[in-house]
Amino acid sequence: MITIDGSYGEGGGQILRTALALSLVTGKPFSINNIRAGRKKPGLMRQHLTAVNAAVEIGDAAIEGNRIGSQAFRFEPVTVKSGTYRFAIGSAGSCTLVFQTILPALLIAGEPSEIILEGGTHNPFAPPFDFLEKAFLPVINRMGPAVRAVLEKPGFYPAGGGRFKVSVDPAGMNRIDLIERGKVIGRRARAAVANLPVSIANRELKVIRDELEWAREQLAVVDVEDSQGPGNILSVEIVSENVTEVFTGFGQKGISAEKVAKRTVRTVREYLAADVPVGRYLADQLLLPMAMAGGGKFRTLSPTKHTSTNAEIIKKFIDVEITVNECDQNQWEIEIWSG
Ligand code: AMP
Repeated sequence: MITIDGSYGEGGGQILRTALALSLVTGKPFSINNIRAGRKKPGLMRQHLTAVNAAVEIGDAAIEGNRIGSQAFRFEPVTVKSGTYRFAIGSAGSCTLVFQTILPALLIAGEPSEIILEGGTHNPFAPPFDFLEKAFLPVINRMGPAVRAVLEKPGFYPAGGGRFKVSVDPAGMNRIDLIERGKVIGRRARAAVANLPVSIANRELKVIRDELEWAREQLAVVDVEDSQGPGNILSVEIVSENVTEVFTGFGQKGISAEKVAKRTVRTVREYLAADVPVGRYLADQLLLPMAMAGGGKFRTLSPTKHTSTNAEIIKKFIDVEITVNECDQNQWEIEIWSG
């Protein structure tokens, strides 16, 4: 049985999600302790518990320790069942993270799947739906499977109440390399507000216009109508020949719209200046599918603790080597290959 220390490295929920995902993919059981030990509220929160229970359902798995607050559990999958599923977090916890836990197994399952996910779709510290749809899934689809996600209702933190639907057509995973970004061929910024004044979105887009010198046609305001609670996000999309990246600013009480937009501009500028295809978040999220494909290589910005931690957890389940090398100023190359 593989044993995992949940407090290792970055020490967050990603450790247990990656372990669940790869346990389903490989059929290898695992036990984990010290779950999120260093976090303010340690152990399983609703979002993590929903991910655990979703993996139990898809893998017909035996489980011990799946309770809110639990700092240890044991997971033994039997199979992978494609099919029709609905997973609701019941809070504003991120449902994109629940989705990323079960997606890897469904990508290589025998039959297609249809999944409905309910909860938060645009949460800080998690991939927002726009990132999932435009940055993450297109790379997965280039590897072989066909995954389509449709947002039915956005759910902002802290109210939640969002929903998206996904169809997964499985296929073998092919290796891909993402070394060159290619020319930038599209730039779009979208400021969305729900139950908040539209002026917030306008102020965010003014910062984009002034600082990045983008034209009005590249900017859009969205006034979300049927949101359960208030919310504001600024989503900036950089479409390049070989990849699309999405950078997100999250509106927050007490932080001005200008500040939210300026922070986002900084991340966009940093990405553009480094001339790499893969941003920091996509980097940690690509390791797992590339390991499933038996290899892959990409260039990115300086790696985060999420990236180094994820690499170590992946290596516990799949026999791969993962190397991280600085290859140029502000350019890092991450390579995964079969050990
Ligand atoms: P954890 O903190 O362990 O729960 O993991 C958070 C996950 O969310 C990591 O895979 C991050 O790459 C991802 N993530 C956090 N913020 C963003 C963002 N703004 N855009 C895309 N992915 C994100």
